[in-house]
Amino acid sequence: MMQPMSGSAVERARTFTREIVQPSIDAWEASATYPRDAVRDSGLTGLFVAPADGGLGLSFPQAVDVFEELGRGDAALAFSISMHNAVTTAIAGVGGDALRERWVEPLVSGKELGGFYLTEPHAGSDATAITTRGTRSGDAWTVSGTKAWVTLGGVASALLVVAKTEEEPGHRDVALFVIDADQPGVRFGEPYRKAAADFLPITNLELENATAHLLVPPGQGMGAALGAIDVARFDIAAISNGLHAEALDVAVRYTSERTVFGKPVIAHQGIAWALADVATDLEAARGLTRKAAELLGKDGGPVAVAHAKRFGPDAALRATIQCSETLGAYGWLHDYPLARFMALAKMLQVVDGSAEIQRIVIARDLMRPPSA
Ligand SMILES: Cc1cc2nc3c(=O)[nH]c(=O)nc-3n(C[C@H](O)[C@H](O)[C@H](O)COP(=O)(O)OP(=O)(O)OC[C@H]3O[C@@H](n4cnc5c(N)ncnc54)[C@H](O)[C@@H]3O)c2cc1C
Repeated sequence: MMQPMSGSAVERARTFTREIVQPSIDAWEASATYPRDAVRDSGLTGLFVAPADGGLGLSFPQAVDVFEELGRGDAALAFSISMHNAVTTAIAGVGGDALRERWVEPLVSGKELGGFYLTEPHAGSDATAITTRGTRSGDAWTVSGTKAWVTLGGVASALLVVAKTEEEPGHRDVALFVIDADQPGVRFGEPYRKAAADFLPITNLELENATAHLLVPPGQGMGAALGAIDVARFDIAAISNGLHAEALDVAVRYTSERTVFGKPVIAHQGIAWALADVATDLEAARGLTRKAAELLGKDGGPVAVAHAKRFGPDAALRATIQCSETLGAYGWLHDYPLARFMALAKMLQVVDGSAEIQRIVIARDLMRPPSA
């Protein structure tokens, strides 16, 4: 076991990215292995949990640079760390004594990992269409149903599952449950075949009368899930900025060193202006992300987060395409991260709510009658 990382959260994220992720990502990809021990030792598994519970107690503005640093390494790995932190924060924040006793220390220390599972094979953007069902018997609950897009399927042990508790359609009865993966009623499917991030297992999850512990009671589950998703969207915006910044750095370095027609590639005005536009987009995305961090949990938070989550990944995808172009044929090689980043930027557009869903949140706000 490596020495767990110390220093501020940003220093840990920077060291983790530069000394662990960047040198190892190709090997993790080739072996399709999730870097379980490296994540445990990153010191980034209790970011928002109070220091009294062993966490770092970060505010959202303090977390911006942490996730930006992680995005410079690998956005899919950063997403899995974001998801783990969402689960850890929820259990530490609103879990009852038994849940806290079982999970807080192992999750904060990274000895065990958590996952958040809302999506079902037939229900993605429309979360109200989920059918996974929690059933009560006295004080005990069991959950049955099928979840899709289960990130860390087979790796995470604390499964935070969103489920209905009544037969009627709609979301008024939705509750949040914590399910221990280590029981007979829990089965993970085969890992999906994806465009990138072979090291990150994403599977289906079959729950059959799985023993479950209530985290958020019926009626409050959908609101709590959407609150957690807002934090996740903010994380994604910051991760996206890190990917964008790293792509730009790679392009500037390469085009400053390679000469074409007697001068560095970047000294050709067409290239310099293209990279200038990439830099402007990055500054705009960072501004939106910082505003989202300030407003999260307050009035205007969901809309500010939607702006940042919509703009950041779109801008990052444009940036990876443009930056790769400035490397000519070399942009397409795995010697540089740009081809991988293109696939990851596409993922960031969808994960935790697609760009269209962010536009719906923004447009609804535009249509809201002005308050008196
Ligand atoms: C890498 C990755 C990891 C993920 N991990 C998890 C996880 O761990 N847990 C989890 O719960 N989920 C996870 N997801 C699922 C993710 O949250 C969903 O994919 C996402 O919410 C979109 O759902 P969908 O893919 O089913 O698209 P659909 O909802 O089927 O939408 C299809 C298309 O229609 C668009 N659309 C939908 N509704 C509207 C509308 N009203 N107006 C206009 N356009 C619309 C969408 O934007 C999309 O382009 C993951 C996804 C990815 C890519």
